[in-house]
Amino acid sequence: MISVFELFKIGVGPSSSHTVGPMIAACRFGHEVVKQPGLLERLDRVRVELYGSLALTGLGHATDTAIFCGLAGCLPDCTEVQVLKETVESLRKYSMLKLAGQVAISFDEKRDLVWLRNETLPAHPNAMQFSVIDSQGQVVFAKRYYSTGGGFVYDEQGLAELKESLSKPQNQDQAAPYPFTTAAVLIEMARTNDLRIDQIIDSNELVLRSEDQIAEQLDRLWSVMAACIDRGCMTEGILPGSLHIRRRAPGIYQKLTQGTQLLPSQWLLEHAQEKLKDPLQQLDWVSLFALAVNEENAAGGQVVTAPTNGAAGVIPAVLGYYVYLVPDPGHPDFDRTISDREGVHRFLKTAGAIGMLYKRNASLSAAEMGCQGEVGVACSMAAAGLAACMGGTIEQIENAAEIGMEHNLGLTCDPIAGLVQVPCIERNTMGATKAINAARLAVLYGDGQHFVSLDRVIETMRQTGVDMQAKYKETSLGGLAVNVVDC
Ligand code: SF4
Repeated sequence: MISVFELFKIGVGPSSSHTVGPMIAACRFGHEVVKQPGLLERLDRVRVELYGSLALTGLGHATDTAIFCGLAGCLPDCTEVQVLKETVESLRKYSMLKLAGQVAISFDEKRDLVWLRNETLPAHPNAMQFSVIDSQGQVVFAKRYYSTGGGFVYDEQGLAELKESLSKPQNQDQAAPYPFTTAAVLIEMARTNDLRIDQIIDSNELVLRSEDQIAEQLDRLWSVMAACIDRGCMTEGILPGSLHIRRRAPGIYQKLTQGTQLLPSQWLLEHAQEKLKDPLQQLDWVSLFALAVNEENAAGGQVVTAPTNGAAGVIPAVLGYYVYLVPDPGHPDFDRTISDREGVHRFLKTAGAIGMLYKRNASLSAAEMGCQGEVGVACSMAAAGLAACMGGTIEQIENAAEIGMEHNLGLTCDPIAGLVQVPCIERNTMGATKAINAARLAVLYGDGQHFVSLDRVIETMRQTGVDMQAKYKETSLGGLAVNVVDC
């Protein structure tokens, strides 16, 4: 069973597959080396080899610095951004790091980090190999990991087990009380048991953690998202990397508020009337939220992987719309029998359920699916979450999720200069506004009946991803990445 808290993880930018995943893999490797009896005595150095998409776009995605930090024992969800920066600075200054935070080893970036740009391993495009080398130059221990998108990391055995479990008929090896692997099963289960999607997820999560822990973790996710919107709106400057992209969110925020010094989370709660004067301005706010989060992500800030970092702005933007822009109480379009807090929880659990379907039946990896697997999936998840907060029926929620993906099918991944900036940052604004439109179409103007099922659209996305040429799948070898000059 995939947990909601595996789909939504607190991490650092700019990429879940190329930053968060490699950091986790490097950290696991470091801990494995220090606990293997006798291995440290033979260790002269550690070599890291990157394959496929990680090698091709890793420099722009901060894969190198993520690996340094991971080897030094840092994990993205529990290490301050400042500590990560200091770890990288120290390694670059002294060519040393503390493996697993415990044992000082030399690490020469130029010698020990190898970018195999022309090699792709068959198991997955995002592969990396970590080796312990002895003083004779012999490999005495090696481990391969795969970063499969959304911060999920598997070693060779784990990936093989995952593939085997995916090939089994559904529902065979699930410990959860309400196991589901397709939308059809989820809908049937909800109908039979008279439960909402978020209630089904609740029951399944209770196998892993208490009710209080679930609520606390959901609160924490929204607070990190909201803080990210605040920081992104208040931080001026140029994003890292060769494109020299200026952050847009602070300027838009100043324009929308006519020069406030308050944080967005304060201003929006205090100025209910101003934000409603022009209804279309709600779109501007939603776009602003997405830009703010993705600019923070591009700058290596703390974000919630939702379900990936490249698409980290879509869900906070739609949740921001719900929390900040929908008049409370009594708005006719929303289920106002619930508090905002309950709404946020319902949103995240419902969106998480939809994300599980994509993770199970297709992929969240742009290296496998293109951007339909990132912004497309985030849009579909957000549409479902919002539809749930609008009091949509299970059929309307499924319809919202289906619309959210149907109109992202074929979306390629072609980041210019391998940076998660263009088209990524702006694309999140489109994903967020499309999600709101999808939820409104499904709930306010639909009765749940629809022609294309969510399962069909997920399978279509998977097939489209398989057929998509590799140059459009996070390699920066096609699309905008080759048609716009990086200068
Ligand atoms: S184009 Fe889409 S999938 Fe590719 S890096 Fe940007 S956000 Fe991620």
